[in-house]
Amino acid sequence: MSSILDSDIKFLPGIGPKRAELLASELNIRTFRDMLYFFPFRYLDRTRIYSISEIDPEMSHIQLRGKIVRINLSGDKGRKKRLVATLADATGVIDLVFFQGIKWIKDKIKINNEYIVFGKPTVFNQTINLVHPEIDPANDDNSLYSGNMIGIYSSTERLKEAGFTNKQVAKLEALLIKMAGDSIYETLPPYITEARKLLPLRSSLKLIHFPTNQTLLNQARYRLKMEELLYLQLSLLRQKNLREGYTRGFIMPRVGDYFNSCFKNIPFELTNAQKRVIKEIRADMISGKQMNRLLQGDVGSGKTMVAVLCALLAADNGFQSCIMAPTEVLANQHYKGATKTIEGSGIKIAILTGNTKASERDRILEELSQGKIHILFGTHALLEDRVIFKNLGLAVIDEQHRFGVDQRARLWTKSEEFPHILVMTATPIPRTLAMTLYGDLDISVIDELPPGRKPVKTIHASENQRMRIFDFMKEQIKSGRQVFVVYPLIKESEKMDYKNLQDGYEQIVKYFPAPEYITAVVHGQQKNEDKAYDMSLFSEGKANILVSTSVIEVGVDVPNASVMVIESAERFGLSQLHQLRGRVGRGTENSYCILMTGYKMSKESKQRIDLLCSTQDGFELAEADLRMRGPGDLEGTQQSGLAMELHISDLAKDSQILEEARKIATSVLTEDPYLENEKNRILKEVLSTLKKEERDYSKIS
Ligand code: ADP
Ligand code: MG
Repeated sequence: MSSILDSDIKFLPGIGPKRAELLASELNIRTFRDMLYFFPFRYLDRTRIYSISEIDPEMSHIQLRGKIVRINLSGDKGRKKRLVATLADATGVIDLVFFQGIKWIKDKIKINNEYIVFGKPTVFNQTINLVHPEIDPANDDNSLYSGNMIGIYSSTERLKEAGFTNKQVAKLEALLIKMAGDSIYETLPPYITEARKLLPLRSSLKLIHFPTNQTLLNQARYRLKMEELLYLQLSLLRQKNLREGYTRGFIMPRVGDYFNSCFKNIPFELTNAQKRVIKEIRADMISGKQMNRLLQGDVGSGKTMVAVLCALLAADNGFQSCIMAPTEVLANQHYKGATKTIEGSGIKIAILTGNTKASERDRILEELSQGKIHILFGTHALLEDRVIFKNLGLAVIDEQHRFGVDQRARLWTKSEEFPHILVMTATPIPRTLAMTLYGDLDISVIDELPPGRKPVKTIHASENQRMRIFDFMKEQIKSGRQVFVVYPLIKESEKMDYKNLQDGYEQIVKYFPAPEYITAVVHGQQKNEDKAYDMSLFSEGKANILVSTSVIEVGVDVPNASVMVIESAERFGLSQLHQLRGRVGRGTENSYCILMTGYKMSKESKQRIDLLCSTQDGFELAEADLRMRGPGDLEGTQQSGLAMELHISDLAKDSQILEEARKIATSVLTEDPYLENEKNRILKEVLSTLKKEERDYSKIS
């Protein structure tokens, strides 16, 4: 299926080897096709011509049509040389001012000829000018510009220096469409384009570069986005089908004594959402297919219990499980929690981290390989080669975005056949994004918090209110509650951050003196023993205050804590703030999150803080975060890696098209899983050309 579009860009007239290199290095454009798919990122509306009397200095760009009535060159040899051409229409006159390219302009403009002028109004000496407007003869039929919507292409300094002006790029695109037009074949089958009245590919490509009006531009955009997102979804869903086709999963049908006796130990009733998710997981575990499931649940929704119960099911069926957490604090907490649940059941659990003593580790590894340990908790230490299971049947990864793709993949290979995999995250990923990033995983959601939780009252405060905040903390401590104080730790400013934390800690100790108050401190520069000691002081209720960096962000569970003070809150991301806030509000008492910020904040920071104060819903926040920052910034999305590059779609903004595409892809593959029908031939062909499509499925996150 090679076509002229595959030609090296250097063969496009006007490019040549040198400029081709520049296009490759600056814009990653290497072929005719790359160039054709280099779309404008915005458009200027030149469909309308204004009269000079209508001009308002607030307008961004305007187009005028008129005669040049006067040309005035001033400041001859000095630096301030400039050319002023006066344009007149039936309603008035305006000066066009040029400081550069004067000679060229002088040769181009003739008095009494008619021109189309396009530029941005600026005010100088109380009169409105156009500085360096674009100017074209009014009756130039060849002009790509006048009377249209003008596509604006992104550019770089180096490209501009090499003469790739916007006009130049547009010319190249026009040339390309003329040369290659016939070999742009349709990439969607007629039964899809017709049902949805999609424009043909060829006209869409032409319109995206040279739209004649807004309606057609919208239609072209829609068609191109739909195509892109449809192929993305087809490729994801096909991978999923493939994987399910040739990996068998362990079958675990029994609900036995281990599960039942532990279940009796649980001091609370599971929420309906927890029960539902356990059912979904259990259905996977008896299906004969290997489970690959993402469990999303807001902070505090009780994911850990779900994981432990599933591990118990595995044990009832003779399989081992592991539950891996990103931090030692968290792994310990999981382990301790499980200790209570398994009491008297005969289940054997262990924990392995980087700090496990050598003798202890050797014993654990020995018992693990003999199958004596049912559930192994731990950190990255679980990934080491010497950690060998007898029969790993279920691998759970908590806070999965904290692990790299490769790290996760190492865990999958710890048994002969793939174990069932459950990855859990409290960073709620909006549905549309999850569909795309994890389109090949199944998704379960815990959308309900355990009963009795009260919303966390969230307050924004600044430095001059600090004493009041301290007094409030005292009040809370007096009534028996505990307080978190968290400082940001950003890698680039690590030293300063530690200093801030140290200063803050000293201030607190001064205001909350021992022995009346006990303040614990936890951060990354401490020895592990110190960290563990201070952490346990706080979790056992012996310390009133815990000062820390955001190491506590993930998962620490101290239900008695009622206040979370976040210092320099403007420096945290929205979802991070939400996670931190989730550390309180776990008991039944009122709880508070206090966001301390400087006086000066960017608009975005202010927006984030306000949003957080106004809602508690993690999914709502994540959607807002996505809108504000774009998907590239979302935690963990970079490493997930999309199946293909997106030219025109924006996952944050095109969620509706994405859902539509998902529906189409699902119905196509349900009817024709291997795309063998003649009517789907084109889909199969295009899919096979998508570069990254054949990913190694063992590395799917
Ligand atoms: P997360 O989903 O953030 O990991 P955890 O698993 O840490 O949440 O659970 C938070 C707290 O809620 C723990 O103390 C846990 O014991 C408790 N919990 C879990 N499920 C329930 C429930 N159904 N009812 C009451 N408390 C629960
Ligand atoms: Mg958790």
